[in-house]
Amino acid sequence: MKPDGVQRGLVGEVFNRLEKKGLKLVAAKMMRLDEAVLREHYSHIADKPFFPGVAQFMQSSPVVVSVWEGLEVVQAVRLISGITKARAAEAGSIRGDLAMSVACNVVHASDSVETAAKEIARFFKPEELLEYDKGEYIHVYVAEELE
Ligand code: ADP
Repeated sequence: MKPDGVQRGLVGEVFNRLEKKGLKLVAAKMMRLDEAVLREHYSHIADKPFFPGVAQFMQSSPVVVSVWEGLEVVQAVRLISGITKARAAEAGSIRGDLAMSVACNVVHASDSVETAAKEIARFFKPEELLEYDKGEYIHVYVAEELE
């Protein structure tokens, strides 16, 4: 959850959407991001003219970082999040329903399994990721999807 999501009171709404989808929450906390972390996190846009504005925005308020598990979860969360430019994002997606900006777009979502692994290591200690059984899984997946 980016600063706009926290400031606009959308944390519960976004968590609710991910929970209702059937995803499993395995870690969550609030934190402030500093310039060094943002430079690393947004290394792929660090040379863009809009990066200083993004870095300033991302430090304007605490964020909520969270880790979700599920089958093909990276793709599922990207779909639920919607495209970067929120005012053009698909209706029904988080950005499509809840935001207008290309920068203040409520959520960040990892774009690949490899990136997710790096981002989890960036924001969490291993012991902050919790392993537990989610009872509703038998109603979220069929048996072969759980193997
Ligand atoms: P996404 O968050 O959808 O994966 P990118 O990785 O391309 O998008 O960009 C990272 C973030 O940088 C975006 O979520 C947004 O906050 C910001 N950003 C991207 N493009 C622009 C832009 N043209 N102007 C301002 N901010 C931008």
